[in-house]
Amino acid sequence: MQTHFDDQQLAEPEIADCERALRKCVHCGFCAATCPTYILTGDELDSPRGRIQLIQNMLESGKAPTAETVHHLDRCLSCLGCKTTCPSDVNYDQLIDKARAHIEETFERPALDKQVRRLLGWLLPRPNMFRVAIAFAYLGRPLRRWLPEPFQVMLDLAPDRWPAPRLSDFGTVYPAEEDKKGRVILLRGCVQSVLDAEANAAAIRILNRYGMEVLVPSGSGCCGALPHHLGQTEQAEQWALKNAIAWSKNNVLNEVDHIVATASGCGSVLKDYGRIFRSNPDLADSAKIIGKKSIDIVELIGKLDLKFVSLPRQFKVTYHGACSLRHGQAIDGLPQKLLADAGCEVLEIPEEHLCCGSAGTYNILQPELSQALAKRKVSNIRKLNPDLVISANVGCSMQLASRMDIGVCHTVQFLDWATGGPRPKQAGGP
Ligand code: SF4
Ligand code: SF4
Repeated sequence: MQTHFDDQQLAEPEIADCERALRKCVHCGFCAATCPTYILTGDELDSPRGRIQLIQNMLESGKAPTAETVHHLDRCLSCLGCKTTCPSDVNYDQLIDKARAHIEETFERPALDKQVRRLLGWLLPRPNMFRVAIAFAYLGRPLRRWLPEPFQVMLDLAPDRWPAPRLSDFGTVYPAEEDKKGRVILLRGCVQSVLDAEANAAAIRILNRYGMEVLVPSGSGCCGALPHHLGQTEQAEQWALKNAIAWSKNNVLNEVDHIVATASGCGSVLKDYGRIFRSNPDLADSAKIIGKKSIDIVELIGKLDLKFVSLPRQFKVTYHGACSLRHGQAIDGLPQKLLADAGCEVLEIPEEHLCCGSAGTYNILQPELSQALAKRKVSNIRKLNPDLVISANVGCSMQLASRMDIGVCHTVQFLDWATGGPRPKQAGGP
């Protein structure tokens, strides 16, 4: 596809990336077949090809986009399903990242939308404040019907029970149980550490059991993915910088083998740190190292010589591969294999490539499309009547668990149990 950026625009590395991505697109439209929003709406402007055209027009003009452009780009899930069917290997992720940042910089959103986005970008990366907000959600439920829609959705998504304590409440170095074979940093995360702290605890247990020392350095936290996907570039940089500083103390960053993420949404952004933060002189070098050393927990477990214990019975499970793992990190097949090795019957969910509609803050900001996708996913899962759903990302787990009476548990939690750890509550544990 032809592009019309001038030299001044192309001097900006992110625009130069976008220009290369735009040139690769041949407008064949193959990507529409795997785009959840196009499948739901049938509108060309809700397809990857339509969005690519909108992004090109917006970035070439350098001006604020129209409300219609923003409407269709906001409806993109950033699920990257489109990348899986693109014959030209168009880097859609670079296009949508830049588009979101440009919108944030130039477009004046309606007041409520603006305030909700600010609130989400500020609150979710702060686990302690997020825990307080969950308490307010209990109190706010009777007022639900008088609140604006995004707040109603937040109340609906808030968990019914008080979240478990975070890892940082316990300590920062978790020693290997047998001869030390490696040393890793665990990304404690933000939303993950509040809503699914057990996944982090399970990751530490299984890694320790197989000879890995796990560090959770104080001062680290949100990876910056949530503000990054909201186009809030500065905030994302601040969080990434905090991690880089925390992990660099005592040369730990250079010495560890890996940086492990248990939430695939975080892992996908960590792996891309080198590209995302390359223009920030305070961050570029450490971001490159972080990107290279980052690994998803399942990838790392796959390298261990696991010894499975026998479970009380064979579990029939469906594996829901989060888009950030399946499309964002191209990890598919390994989690299912590990679950089968653990003795599970693993069932494939129909339309498994389609997003569940969680997608970071999408379920709050785009409730209509998000709920339609969640309904479709839950209906496909129910057809299989599994004992348990296994998920790789906290957002997907919350999205699905709030709509089903079937337990949803993280892959690492199940594999920890199958190798000698405690039985997950979702699988009938205490
Ligand atoms: S499949 Fe790839 S090349 Fe074809 S329209 Fe979509 S993004 Fe462009
Ligand atoms: S990222 Fe997902 S929602 Fe967005 S255009 Fe690609 S397939 Fe469609």
